[in-house]
Amino acid sequence: MKPSRLRFASRMQDLRTSDIREILKVTQRPEIISFAGGLPASELLPAAEMAELARDVLLDDGVRALQYAPTEGLDTLRELIADRLRRLWGLQRSMDEVLVVSGSQQALDLTGKVFLDEGDVVLCESPTYLGAIGAFRAYRPTFVEVPTDDHGMVPAELEARLGSLDRVKLIYVVPDFQNPSGRRWSVERRRTLAELAGGYNVPVIEDAPYAELCFEGEPMPPVAALGDTCTVVYLGTCSKILSPGMRLGWVVADSDLLRRYVLVKQGTDLHTSSLVQLLAARFMLDHDLEGHIARIRDVYRGRRDAMLAALEEHFPDDISFTRPSGGLFLWVELPEGMDARELLDRALEEHVAFVPGESFFPNGGHDNSLRLNFSAMPKERIWEGVRRLGRVLSSVTVAAV
Ligand code: PMP
Repeated sequence: MKPSRLRFASRMQDLRTSDIREILKVTQRPEIISFAGGLPASELLPAAEMAELARDVLLDDGVRALQYAPTEGLDTLRELIADRLRRLWGLQRSMDEVLVVSGSQQALDLTGKVFLDEGDVVLCESPTYLGAIGAFRAYRPTFVEVPTDDHGMVPAELEARLGSLDRVKLIYVVPDFQNPSGRRWSVERRRTLAELAGGYNVPVIEDAPYAELCFEGEPMPPVAALGDTCTVVYLGTCSKILSPGMRLGWVVADSDLLRRYVLVKQGTDLHTSSLVQLLAARFMLDHDLEGHIARIRDVYRGRRDAMLAALEEHFPDDISFTRPSGGLFLWVELPEGMDARELLDRALEEHVAFVPGESFFPNGGHDNSLRLNFSAMPKERIWEGVRRLGRVLSSVTVAAV
């Protein structure tokens, strides 16, 4: 039967291909200087170490690596994750409060399955992570964007929505070096979020893939470590500190709540790859993960500096951008009336790619914004790419005048 004659679930009407997936197809070409993806630097992926570990794991623990495993994840890894969260962030959680998942993207989908009925309200930052919009959208919620400044969601705006809207089911936030803006929430805002969410009895989904990628300044406590009255589901991942291809992440929450995640994960994929879990555990035990992350941070700090210097040099003065102190991205605002999609068409002619900002707003708008990634390209290409973008921008600006 032709697909056009099949009858699909009504949720399919709401799903669209993400801009990023489409742009990434173009950026596979080697001549393209891509600021579009969120890729870790390829040269920092520990392939040689993993090759040795894979051999050891299969020889020493082959049956466990190749056999079905519990949905919750392998105890060795859950224990290591709980230890690390305690050490790094003072998050006092036991192994029973850790569920291993296939990347934090899966955790977002499971979150939708656990919490969302059609028409429920998700409160999110404005802008917010595109992949979360996509994952939640399948459950047909209403997204309400909470105005957000350099320090996080504006508390009065959050409270106004919590106080006035029915059916608020979730508050979704990325407090550390957010994708897409690169912004980091202040401790005060984190505390206020915990208080407000606790007061209104709405769970916070704290998505923290970039927390370890802090280039300067003090570590900040996760919302999950602040306040006892608030329910927080904390999401972490190996993707930015080890390898995104491994597809390994974790959900941390009270055991009662986590049980529901386990139930829905069973229906999704039974469990996350046993081989990958053992590899990650072995890496954490036998290699210096924190040293590895320190090297990643050094490289990305250098690339962030290169991008900021290039932006200062080559971008017209009426364009503003964030100066992130960690993560992979920065956020650019063009003058009102300019359209980042049109700019992208022109930039692609110059072999430079980025993601137009509109995709990061669930309710659209903000055509004059865009996201730049600084982790994936070496410094010389960052400089050259920003130079070309600056040239395109100057010609567009002049044409507009
Ligand atoms: N959340 C955020 C905020 C992200 O930026 C990403 C990756 N781009 C994810 C979740 C998904 O990460 P993972 O590779 O762990 O599925």
